[in-house]
Amino acid sequence: MQSTARVLVTGGAGYIGTHTCIQLLSAGYQLLVLDNFSNSSPEALHRVQAITGIEVPGIEGDINDAALLDRLFEQHAIDAVIHFAGLKAVGESVAQPLRYYHNNVSGTVTLCQAMQRAGVFNLVFSSSATVYGDPATLPIREDFPTSATNPYGRSKLIIEEILGDLYTSDPRWNVALLRYFNPVGAHPSGLIGEDPSDIPNNLMPYIAQVAVGRRERLSVFGSDYPTVDGTGVRDYIHVMDLADGHVRALAWLQQGLGIKAFNLGTGRGYSVLEMLKAFEQACGKTLAYELVARRPGDVASCYADPTLAEQELGWKATLGIEAMCADGWRWQSQNPEGYRS
Ligand code: NAD
Ligand code: UDP
Repeated sequence: MQSTARVLVTGGAGYIGTHTCIQLLSAGYQLLVLDNFSNSSPEALHRVQAITGIEVPGIEGDINDAALLDRLFEQHAIDAVIHFAGLKAVGESVAQPLRYYHNNVSGTVTLCQAMQRAGVFNLVFSSSATVYGDPATLPIREDFPTSATNPYGRSKLIIEEILGDLYTSDPRWNVALLRYFNPVGAHPSGLIGEDPSDIPNNLMPYIAQVAVGRRERLSVFGSDYPTVDGTGVRDYIHVMDLADGHVRALAWLQQGLGIKAFNLGTGRGYSVLEMLKAFEQACGKTLAYELVARRPGDVASCYADPTLAEQELGWKATLGIEAMCADGWRWQSQNPEGYRS
């Protein structure tokens, strides 16, 4: 992909999308963002503009709107699509599976149909480490078996398989399936970051809200796992590193190598209590927590073998948990109510 190419970024106003837009703009790409703002705010795109000094054209609309997609491909010379748009709350997906399959799976089918009509065959897809289910061994390689334990995870798995079928049907498709581990942190400016609209499901935004006084204490889900201190272990990755992975993936598409899955993680796991301690260091406060029962569906440990991404994308995570916590805290403390602050 020439770095002057135009990229359609679906879900570009969201957490990972905004950070990726910044890295794409600084690499010289032209962008068009499509977002229905179901889990984000137009303010997030204004902040991207404030950080980069570059105007980001944003269209409010849905990936399930085929006529809108046709218009966008017709009016803009789009070379590639980075597809972040999707719903991502595991518990909600269990309660509302059809909403998840419609938004994530049907939305992706509608998007790919529009790409096909427009002759655009370059796609980077936001997948997740959740597709590995409960891995038999660690670290996790891309060739490990996949499985799903909830509709959210199943939607990612189904989409990966649909994209595989698409490539089999037409080798002009180039698809990078990026399997994210646990994205955390924020842009170092403190202007953009993760802004959950409800009570956070994920560890780091929950800790950040305890630190800023919005929540009383962290509930640590499970302290009897076979891990370093009994709490769950995950591969946390700085969202700026993750964003760079997308820039590398766009360049990889250019080689025309078909479809491939890549782990985007650091290769190192940290426990819940280790992350809590690192955040305490970053914010300079002691944070209240209590040990409670395991969360159903959680695995003990999950971390990546990121070798393939290093070999084929030339990408490697560079930022550690100190930067993840310091940048996450800067965003949260400067924007205690997120984009509503
Ligand atoms: P996010 O909710 O912040 O961003 C998703 C964006 O997509 C939001 O701006 C939302 O408004 C938009 N959107 C949702 N449905 C849409 C639709 N039908 N049409 C148009 N826009 C729509 O989430 P995120 O954390 O930035 O995640 C981005 C992608 O990465 C998602 O596909 C998610 O499943 C995947 N992912 C996220 C994580 C994580 O921990 N954050 C981990 C693995 C994978
Ligand atoms: N976790 C926790 N309390 C919370 C949220 C998460 O103890 O309020 C734990 C969770 O059990 C897991 C780790 O933190 O061990 C990461 O959870 P998260 O939901 O952020 O990511 P995922 O489980 O999807 O990898």
